[in-house]
Amino acid sequence: MSSAKVELETYRHSAAHVMAHALKRIFPGARLGIGPAIEDGFYYDFDLPETLTPEILEKIEAEMRVLIAEDHPFRREELSRDEARRLLEKAGECYKLELLEGLPAGPISIYRSGDFFDLCRGPHLESTGKIKAFKLLSVAGAYWRGDEQRPMLQRIYGTAFLSPAELDQYLHNLEEAKKRDHRKLGREMDLFSFHEESPGMVFFHPRGVVLYELLLDFWRKLHRSRGYREIMTPMILKDELWHRSGHWDHYKDHMFFCPIGEQTFAVKPMNCPGGILYYKESQHSYREFPLRVAELGRVHRRELTGVLHGLFRVQGFVIDDAHIYCLPSQIKDEIKEIVKLILDLYRQVGFSQYQIEVSTRPESSIGSDADWDLAVRSLKEALDEMGIAYSVSEGEGAFYGPKIDFHIRDSLKRSYQCGTVQLDFSMPERFELEYIGADGAKHRPVMIHRAAFGSIERFLGILLEHYGGALPVWLAPVQAAVLPVSEKFFSYAGQVRNELEARGFRVELDERNEKLGWKIRAAQEQKIPYMLVVGSREADSGTVSVRSRDGGELGAKTLPECADLIREAVRSKDDGLSGGQGE
Ligand SMILES: [Zn+2]
Ligand SMILES: [Zn+2]
Repeated sequence: MSSAKVELETYRHSAAHVMAHALKRIFPGARLGIGPAIEDGFYYDFDLPETLTPEILEKIEAEMRVLIAEDHPFRREELSRDEARRLLEKAGECYKLELLEGLPAGPISIYRSGDFFDLCRGPHLESTGKIKAFKLLSVAGAYWRGDEQRPMLQRIYGTAFLSPAELDQYLHNLEEAKKRDHRKLGREMDLFSFHEESPGMVFFHPRGVVLYELLLDFWRKLHRSRGYREIMTPMILKDELWHRSGHWDHYKDHMFFCPIGEQTFAVKPMNCPGGILYYKESQHSYREFPLRVAELGRVHRRELTGVLHGLFRVQGFVIDDAHIYCLPSQIKDEIKEIVKLILDLYRQVGFSQYQIEVSTRPESSIGSDADWDLAVRSLKEALDEMGIAYSVSEGEGAFYGPKIDFHIRDSLKRSYQCGTVQLDFSMPERFELEYIGADGAKHRPVMIHRAAFGSIERFLGILLEHYGGALPVWLAPVQAAVLPVSEKFFSYAGQVRNELEARGFRVELDERNEKLGWKIRAAQEQKIPYMLVVGSREADSGTVSVRSRDGGELGAKTLPECADLIREAVRSKDDGLSGGQGE
């Protein structure tokens, strides 16, 4: 972890102590759960009879400001286990007592600030006065230790930043994120809906299908040009296959099953087993390697209804999968090709900031030391030679192989794990995959699973929020709306639409009997890049008056000029967002 990250975590965890301290001043009987720093802030869990409301949060914030002004030093003390137990018993901190019992042998550290103390490893800031900018954000219920058999505590989420300016930026982004909620945009832009008749499954509307297909067309073009061939395999396969693949043992709870006669079938949660049956259909030679087989495969995975969330968490979705079969000596170069492809894909859809993480061998794993060494070394060397920075998560790989994860950062600085490249020592063994080597003998190929977008559905949600719905012109389901000022110009407006459609653009005509101002607002809400207004002047001169969705007046243009304008925007894939290199 970088030192800046440790510093921020210490800072935020110190703010969590101050919050707990403030809460105990207001509710002396409250008992403490845990209070860690998290990705964008911190939380603390409390057990108290009062229900925490937004008004109470404000009171706690006010008390926190007092504690910060009082500038209490954070002091570390080491106690014996008995001393710590007596201290916690006296304070009635039953949850902390339970945590104490789980701590390893050795002295127990507590941190004090003023009349507050907490069982804690630390580290902490020098004093409460060092906290410059914080905000309490929300309250949620949280079971003690995440166990629904245990008491439900109240969790307060907050955040803290090193400067008020950074806090303001963060709060601004939070507000913006609410406005950009893809579920709201999906409704306004008429892209998709959800229905309780099929929880967590998406109903794409006509414009949503256009967007979906545009993204897939783009994906296919890029993959074909990089030597990928594409297959489609069935969605429902017999349960024997899932026993053989190991999914039955490890993934059963997330699978949908359907009995058909005497036989049980499973709806595929992953595309690999079907892809492997295709591989085994013919004999392969090392000369074909690396063999790149892509599948935009629709998978289904069961989720608890509580965690379903718009397009971000669904039960049915398409993965932009590919399985690559290669020689051990080809791993490194193939990883480079994959990384290049994935980053190119991200850049072209508008994401130029990303973080890459390499996960290495976990404690329990299959495969030989030599296999793992070569695989991990190949992954790291590929990235090193490309000059790409990455972090290493030791021991976080899957039991069947190491992996690279891609986290993209959106325009509101939120991070999403999307792409993944996974080496697999398990499937080739389980399915006895083979190829004929240069020596004429049979060998096991290396198998690489990889996805760039991950779930297409989720990626569309990320894209919508990244752009606030204002998709770049090449991806906009409707590129231009023709807006006649009155019924008299419907016929000319129809000609405009037909001509532009004939030139390959996606154009809609607004024939509703509404005022021009109303139609313009409607088109803007739907984030349509260009509005082509037509009245008597335009009809007489064979032109359109062009407005852009951000309110810019682009003036009167002939249809060929208008086509050039849209074509240029499509070609440049201009997104209006600036982005730096990967971090
Ligand atoms: Zn602490
Ligand atoms: Zn796979």
